Amino acid sequence: MKDYKHFETKAIRYQSDQSYNKEHSVPIYATSSFLFDSAEEARALFDNEIEGNIYTRFSNPNNEEFITKLCLLEGLEDGVATSSGMAAMFLSIAAFLEQGDHLIASRAVFGSTHQIITQVLPKWGITHTYVDTNHPETWESAVLPNTKMLFLETPSNPGLDIIDLELAGTFAKKNNLIFNVDNCFATPYLQNPAKWGAHLVSHSATKFIDGQGRVIGGAILGNKELIEKVRFLNRHIGPSMSPFNSWILSKSLETLAVRMDRHCQNAIELARFLEDHKEVNWVKYPFLSSHPMYEVAKKQMSQGGGMVSFEIKGGIERGSKFLNNVKMMSLTANLGDTRSIATHPASTTHSKLSDDDKMAVGITDGLIRISVGLEHINDIIDDIDQALGKSEI
Ligand SMILES: *Cc1c(COP(=O)(O)O)cnc(C)c1O
Repeated sequence: MKDYKHFETKAIRYQSDQSYNKEHSVPIYATSSFLFDSAEEARALFDNEIEGNIYTRFSNPNNEEFITKLCLLEGLEDGVATSSGMAAMFLSIAAFLEQGDHLIASRAVFGSTHQIITQVLPKWGITHTYVDTNHPETWESAVLPNTKMLFLETPSNPGLDIIDLELAGTFAKKNNLIFNVDNCFATPYLQNPAKWGAHLVSHSATKFIDGQGRVIGGAILGNKELIEKVRFLNRHIGPSMSPFNSWILSKSLETLAVRMDRHCQNAIELARFLEDHKEVNWVKYPFLSSHPMYEVAKKQMSQGGGMVSFEIKGGIERGSKFLNNVKMMSLTANLGDTRSIATHPASTTHSKLSDDDKMAVGITDGLIRISVGLEHINDIIDDIDQALGKSEI
């Protein structure tokens, strides 16, 4: 492949060289397995003496194209594509931690990641400590002799907390920890954790990478040595990405830059509009100067991302009223779509959490999360404005 300089060009021009029929758009390799020319070739393939595809659970040209392109965009050497973002999060931890090991994680992690850390890993004797990411000076006291990994999510879901990746990178290096970042909200277009010392970058490709709400997928990226361990686990456990999904996602990467530019442009306009709204207590957006980590966000992200959180006045009741009053925006359990999506965690996804647990992840009763889509910004603002007005008690 030619060595293209810019993100957009890499995302569009990197293609698998497996296409034999001069297709301009790479075909979908819908096959479970691949032919061997001879018994000798089969043996060499299984012994890793030569490279090639054997079986789609191990590898497939579409998966290779998607993951190689994503590696180019993240600035990392190697990767594994998985059937979901959660498969990626799990493998990125399970490939490295074993019985008796300890993990440090940011408290505000994605719901299912929290379940893995608190319900699944303990079954294999892996313990954890959640740290307050707004106070990195407290992290040192969480380090134990058996601590192996630092797992962070920034920006976080749904509170949009920002963690200083440079500081985290230094901390991980000093304590000899594998540094793993869930980069789902930012995508490689806005933030490259490897630049700040992350060893592993994990993604849910379901969100902005697909960007059109069509498929579930994930990825784990890192250097060859680390990814070899992830590949082993993926190969034998089997949460591999389907070739159809990787074909979709490779195509999606071609438009990631233009989509993210518009997501970010719409999101900051909406955030500014909400800041001045009389029915809104506060707005959280990484690129608003009112964000407590604004300077850090500016340092490590090129734009603020497509998510905006705000607190509606009047708590739970008005939050759910707001959801019922929106006309255009979708009420659905996804984000990072072309279509704007509104969620009210306190009355839906997080309704069963105790008040303390909600506060720990930054969820207040009136918190509304908007995944800002690609519709015209005036239509997005109009919909939110009328829903806020109608929510008045
Ligand atoms: C959605 C999401 C995940 C999980 O990804 P799936 O593709 O739904 O399995 C993990 N982390 C974050 C930050 C997410 O938003």
